[in-house]
Amino acid sequence: MELLNTILAADERKPVAVERPEGRSPVLLICEHASKMIPRSLGDLGLSEELRSSHIAWDPGALDVSLFLSNELDACLIHQRFSRLAYDCNRPPEADSAIPKRSEIFEIPGNISASAEEKQARVDGIYRPFQGAVAQEIARRKASGRPTVLVTLHSFTPVFKGVRRDTEIGILHDSDARLADRVISSLDRGSGLVVRRNDPYGPEDGVTHTLVEHGVRNGLQNVMVEVRNDLLADETSRQRVEQHLLRAIVESLGPEEVA
Ligand SMILES: [Zn+2]
Repeated sequence: MELLNTILAADERKPVAVERPEGRSPVLLICEHASKMIPRSLGDLGLSEELRSSHIAWDPGALDVSLFLSNELDACLIHQRFSRLAYDCNRPPEADSAIPKRSEIFEIPGNISASAEEKQARVDGIYRPFQGAVAQEIARRKASGRPTVLVTLHSFTPVFKGVRRDTEIGILHDSDARLADRVISSLDRGSGLVVRRNDPYGPEDGVTHTLVEHGVRNGLQNVMVEVRNDLLADETSRQRVEQHLLRAIVESLGPEEVA
């Protein structure tokens, strides 16, 4: 059999999408778990249709919120076009969770059986282009003297391992909490939402890879926003969340970013 050296066929979509590349906002939006699409070469990963559409495959609603913010802020948005079950772009290649053998309570047969060559093909075909696109955009802005703050958008399941979560919005950060502090303060003023810091996940869960790699290492202020996905399931509720997030982000930009 021919050695698998690429994960995506020529007629499949590129693994990364860049929306509004000329957007004028200092905010650079990133959505790593935007898609549930599985590359054709991976088949169904041994999962039912139901599981391939569930939160283990993607962050339902996160791309909708990202596109709304991109439009309202006139901000560049970089998002992934394939499922995190193929490769989780918010994880470095050395992390076991980059190509998870298990997600929540479900085993991923197609990941358990993946050979070292196939895993490398996923790194090269999905992770590297995504990271490259983000790094390139940051470098481009820096070269032209434009300020950048990173905002990554995610959603989480309301019930995890049988336990109901009451957090509605999680505001996550790693070692640089400047932007997260201001977003939390802003949301606490009048959103009425249950907002928690580094909840339901935090740096100890390995979820701050993008923030560290592209934000902290470049000295850029950064924050990861996690929205409970039942709040994004109907339009009225989603619009309410979107308006609060938009206000919080705008209020949290410093004078140097707004100038
Ligand atoms: Zn996510």
